[in-house]
Amino acid sequence: MAKTRKAARPRRASAAPAGKTGRTAGRGATRVKRPTTKGARKAAPARRAKAPGQYVYLFGRKTDGNGSMKPLLGGKGANLAEMCRIGLPVPPGFTITTEVCTHYYAHTRTYPPTLRAQVQAGIAAIERQTRKAFGDLGNPLLLSVRSGARDSMPGMMDTILNLGLNDETVDALARKTGNARFAWDCYRRFVQMYGDVVLGVQKRPGEDHDPFEMVIEALEHERYHRHIEDTALTVEDLQELVARFKALVRDRAGLEFPAQPWDQLMGAVGAVFGSWMNDRAIVYRRKYNIPSEWGTAVNVQAMVYGNSGDASGSGVAFTRNPANGVKEFYGEFLMNAQGEDVVAGVRTPEPVAELRKHLPAAYHELERIRGVLERHFKDVQDFEFTIEDGVVYMLQTRNGKRTAMAALKFSMDMHREGLIDWKTAVMRNPADQLDQLLAPVFDTADVDRADVIATGLPAGPGAASGRIYLNAERAVIAAEKGERVLLVRVETSPEDLRGMIAADGILTARGGVSSHAALVARQMGKVCVCGASGVEVDYQARTASVQGRTYAEGDWLSIDGTAGRVFAGAVKTAPSEIVAGLIEGDERARRTEKFKSFQQLMTWCGSVSRMQVRTNADTPEQARNAIAFGATGIGLCRTEHMFFEGDRIDAMREMILAEDLEARKAALAKLLPYQRDDFAGIFRALEGHPATIRFLDPPLHEFLPHTPEQQADLAGKLGVPVETIQSRVHQLHEVNPMLGFRGCRLGIGYPEISAMQARAVFEAAAIVQKEGVKVRPEIMIPLVGFKRELDLQVDVVHQVARVVQAEQKVTLSYMVGTMIEVPRGALTADEIAQTAEFFSFGTNDLTQTALGMSRDDSGSFLPTYAELEIVARNPFATLDQTGVGQLVRIAVEKGRATKPDLKLGICGEHGGDPASIVFFEQVGLDYVSCSPYRVPVARLAAAQAALSIPSGD
Ligand code: ADP
Ligand code: MG
Ligand code: MG
Repeated sequence: MAKTRKAARPRRASAAPAGKTGRTAGRGATRVKRPTTKGARKAAPARRAKAPGQYVYLFGRKTDGNGSMKPLLGGKGANLAEMCRIGLPVPPGFTITTEVCTHYYAHTRTYPPTLRAQVQAGIAAIERQTRKAFGDLGNPLLLSVRSGARDSMPGMMDTILNLGLNDETVDALARKTGNARFAWDCYRRFVQMYGDVVLGVQKRPGEDHDPFEMVIEALEHERYHRHIEDTALTVEDLQELVARFKALVRDRAGLEFPAQPWDQLMGAVGAVFGSWMNDRAIVYRRKYNIPSEWGTAVNVQAMVYGNSGDASGSGVAFTRNPANGVKEFYGEFLMNAQGEDVVAGVRTPEPVAELRKHLPAAYHELERIRGVLERHFKDVQDFEFTIEDGVVYMLQTRNGKRTAMAALKFSMDMHREGLIDWKTAVMRNPADQLDQLLAPVFDTADVDRADVIATGLPAGPGAASGRIYLNAERAVIAAEKGERVLLVRVETSPEDLRGMIAADGILTARGGVSSHAALVARQMGKVCVCGASGVEVDYQARTASVQGRTYAEGDWLSIDGTAGRVFAGAVKTAPSEIVAGLIEGDERARRTEKFKSFQQLMTWCGSVSRMQVRTNADTPEQARNAIAFGATGIGLCRTEHMFFEGDRIDAMREMILAEDLEARKAALAKLLPYQRDDFAGIFRALEGHPATIRFLDPPLHEFLPHTPEQQADLAGKLGVPVETIQSRVHQLHEVNPMLGFRGCRLGIGYPEISAMQARAVFEAAAIVQKEGVKVRPEIMIPLVGFKRELDLQVDVVHQVARVVQAEQKVTLSYMVGTMIEVPRGALTADEIAQTAEFFSFGTNDLTQTALGMSRDDSGSFLPTYAELEIVARNPFATLDQTGVGQLVRIAVEKGRATKPDLKLGICGEHGGDPASIVFFEQVGLDYVSCSPYRVPVARLAAAQAALSIPSGD
């Protein structure tokens, strides 16, 4: 019993109060005034500059802010102001700016001196509009205190409702509404929320239940000898609960519950600012790279009561379906409830369409608002509303988080509807989410055979199979061990975030489309099925039971987040329609809407991008795939990978171990045909696109046999004593191979290696060119720091080119350039550009050498660095623009000063990272290069970078 009642009431919120609240005439008269249509203005011309020293911005009949002021007012506050401006019904209130938050942390948690007076003026403005008064014993004004960061941070901050109640005002509210039960239920909720959020009365380590919940449970058992619904609690019960809650606060927090409304208000404001630095908020900010300096705003607003009776309720809705993109009114609500109940995703609410039956007028009003919102914001909105006695109030709106699939469909549909132009449509698809569209789906044949054991809401499209875990911590541990994980919960809460990040998919037994699980799925692109009520989760036993079958932790389940189905066991996956259509030429896939929309998006991207997108590919197949995705050539072909296959490694080892030039040449001669075939294959696959081929780069010892068995085997093959091999391996050992005998140093030490590679390139080029295919090799010398290094290698290449062209009686067009990947190379780029025909930034090594940080060893300290905000992001994933970026800028400027038409590209890992791509656009590179499956992401990011950076600078 304890389990259900705990689950029925979330930590932050409470379930609905008594069914009947018997509204009175008096109550109707004091209802919040709806803004008149006279007040409805077009928002755009009303833009208003920030006034110095203004910390409080009103919204309501008079509105100071607007939707463009998110940095100052936070997302919630700015949009509340914007909604007021366009005449939507918003309860009046004011926003305390993010500057106050910054001030608060910069000044030992204190406020600017003028804040108090400004807040008092804000309260007075609300009082005038509602004709209620804060702390009044006739008609008390109650407030909600709400956080609001610049970007919404779902679930991270705590909202306090019904603030302003005390032993006197509660009676006033009861008298005024004629409904003592309603008043005391508000009071009960308020003391509980305030005690928890502001006074910190929470579950202690080792406690299983929330202390307030324990008090409720105790009272139920004393008075009713069983668990009863909240709605069945009487006025006397609620009064007793309030008294016991206060005693609990006294006991746990060592203080009296604040009775003065003003004290309550300032305490709540401090708690919102304080929550900016709570663990959950910090984890979230880290994941989404939100700087802590941004701070949060605080919104103080008149309460409207969704819990005042049967013509009241609360809900959340999207103007379109954010999971799959379909244009339908999408959302849910609870009758006779305060909004937190819906947002917390604890009870499974009713779909918004059902509201038409309960309250048709309110439903039509919401439909009207849905249209107004989309026409005004020109994007899909996620909004929160409360209905008080049949009247709809808007409490929040923001651009709805959406899956990649929904983003794609929204952008195409809204373009077709004329709401947005095609460039906006391109911008509406988040580049770092695009790979969701390429993620596998379930194999149709296998899924037909699979056993559907439950169904739920399709909250995050895609296919996921994994071993189930019922708790976030264990899910994280399993994922760290390399297991595929499905996180299975009754419902999720912000505490589960780490587990949700680690899991391949999320399955919940309870909760609707606005539950925490669904929210996170939309945001992170997780495969998710929620509210699968057939699944019974037993945390104690660590099992999930469905239809009489029991699955233990570690057992396999599969979920289809597109259809909302749960399968027993692991189900095979198949390539997404886009991959099937482009790479496999599957005609059926090419006819799907998803495929066509994707192609349209890529066509738009192509027409607006300045930078090209190439690929890092070492095989013909990779090259073909990348070209199918729209790559325009190879930006990095690593030749060393070619030396590992089959018995090539023996010839390679023979070459390395050779004692003299003749022996080395003999071994190289064995490698030549392999390498020539490889290049010929790649040139054919490229069908005329250019190929940047990097000469041998890694330290030689990487190729050597290291185990005694390998050494003995090689000794046998080469007919030399094993000791010879051992001593050569020993000789080649390096203390710090990353900075050792590698890159162009190899070709300078052994020019015959570069000569062989050049010969392989040119002979292959001659062969393929004679087949009638255009060939454009671009030979790239790695790790150059001195112009003379490049000169020496370029001489070798040109000489071989002359010989091969004469032998083959062909003319080949080719280029020779270099990688810029050590700081000296970047700093002396003007000199190097005298020889180089192109630069390609090797940002992996450039980051390692500029930061003096080995990527392979950074795992032991980078997480700490991220935590302490020494680095904003992992510099090996997103280019460190301030540091490494300067080297890139210098090299670009100096290189082009010497050679204005110098071709510039980037082939490091960063070439597929949207944030880095913006930087490469800014510095004017000609192309980025990334792995084949990253090409669509890079194309979208390149197009968006071109659109967002004004051209002509
Ligand atoms: P979150 O950022 O977690 O969504 P909100 O500040 O939006 O928090 O508050 C959560 C819910 O509290 C809202 O969706 C709404 O239902 C309820 N709420 C907030 N302010 C008011 C208000 N002035 N009147 C009635 N309910 C409110
Ligand atoms: Mg909200
Ligand atoms: Mg390198």
